[in-house]
Amino acid sequence: MTTAPHLDTATFRALGHALVDRVADYLDGVGDLPVAPSVRPGDLTAALPAQAPETGEPWEAILADVDRLIVPGLLHWQSPRFFGYFPANASGPAILGELLSAGLGVQGMLWATSPACTELETVVLDWLGRALGLPARFLSTGEGGGVIQGTASEAVLVAILAARDRALRSGARLDQLVVFASTEAHSSVTKGARIAGLGHGVRLVGVDGALAMDADALRAAVEAERAAGRVPCFVCATVGTTSSTAIDPVAAIGAVAQAAGMWLHVDGAFAGSAAICPEQRHLLDGVERADSVCVNPHKWLLTNFDCSALWLADRRPVVDALAITPEYLRHATSERGAVIDYRDWQVPLGRRFRALKLWFVLRHYGVEGLRAHVRDGLAQAVWVEAAVRADPRFELAAPRTSALVCFRLVDDDPERGDARNQALLAALNASGALYLSHTRLPARDAAGALTGPPRHTLRLALGGARTSLADVQAAWSVIAANAG
Ligand SMILES: *Cc1c(COP(=O)(O)O)cnc(C)c1O
Repeated sequence: MTTAPHLDTATFRALGHALVDRVADYLDGVGDLPVAPSVRPGDLTAALPAQAPETGEPWEAILADVDRLIVPGLLHWQSPRFFGYFPANASGPAILGELLSAGLGVQGMLWATSPACTELETVVLDWLGRALGLPARFLSTGEGGGVIQGTASEAVLVAILAARDRALRSGARLDQLVVFASTEAHSSVTKGARIAGLGHGVRLVGVDGALAMDADALRAAVEAERAAGRVPCFVCATVGTTSSTAIDPVAAIGAVAQAAGMWLHVDGAFAGSAAICPEQRHLLDGVERADSVCVNPHKWLLTNFDCSALWLADRRPVVDALAITPEYLRHATSERGAVIDYRDWQVPLGRRFRALKLWFVLRHYGVEGLRAHVRDGLAQAVWVEAAVRADPRFELAAPRTSALVCFRLVDDDPERGDARNQALLAALNASGALYLSHTRLPARDAAGALTGPPRHTLRLALGGARTSLADVQAAWSVIAANAG
């Protein structure tokens, strides 16, 4: 007998059933709640005691506080009218996978610490890699293979660490190393470089009128760095930038990377998921030149956060950079090299059994089901794009390449335009009827050339797990009614 007051099995079972009911009710009803909360900073903190309870409390009290204190303080990412940032798909199969993973409670750091945890991850990432049309070199059947990271930010950090290690082993000094991305790349590239001790070497390359990296500018920048005695070691090509889902020219960037001996990482965190549809495969053109590629099932492929898929063309540089084996982690199967130990493919040691939820999702929906979900989001984006074009008060702020529409009120005066667009966004989000986020994108002329400094822009991201075209149309009516 333990002395801790554990939940007895019968109570756990009853509470668990009731909690699943609660989650189902939440997801059924989330569309009826105001999407954004109306709380002020410190509201929750003030409502909670300063200390943990000394003795346990009844579950009725805990759950009542969820209703009273927690739910009103949420931004409802699962609302069908949540269009901010990028979606964070939560689906029934994935939620059940999370629950089972929590219940099994295993640590998958080594193959030996739960063989099924490691092998299922390898298999489902091969499944997903094939479904996305990735070249065979990214599959575990060759030198490469896939691994689930917590986030795309960790995925790019792992890629930078491998690139750095490879360059250092070939004789470069840390202070010589340079990493490239476009000015529109996700901030995680700069953050990863800083963490890797390469903050001094980050170079952000300019973009063209479509906000995609200018590969000629990259080539020139690489040559300039080499002429100055520095060592280009890494470039990130983004397939679907966060601001506007611009698609960098991966093949052209890959040619520069290959000529310079740089590691090419493809960040397809959001838009890369669309490659699951054969008609969207072109998004990943050029990926055959990449050393690593990342897609986030936790955005658009119906898999709860966290689940970021990273595929490597060759796993050795990552393992070379990250494997350290103290005595307490030695294991005969690992020594023989017969198995994958995923701790060597990531920054932390411990790891959750995240493959379970992805396996549930792939088996429940099938690849066809995921394609249908992606196509819904794309069709909704096409509808919004047409609505923007049809309304002379608005302009598209960037070409629509995927399930994100960037738009703003037209205004001759940039400052007044920014103020009006900010006010529109604030009014929409305060209405509770929908939720959008923003970015800043340059003005463009009719030919698509960039003509001015960045302007306040509204982002409407599709791909929510529960969003129908009718939800999108209702949301657009609210936007149009507030446009003044
Ligand atoms: C969302 C996003 C990221 C960051 O994703 P996390 O998984 O939250 O780290 C990185 N890159 C791109 C292009 C993104 O859209």
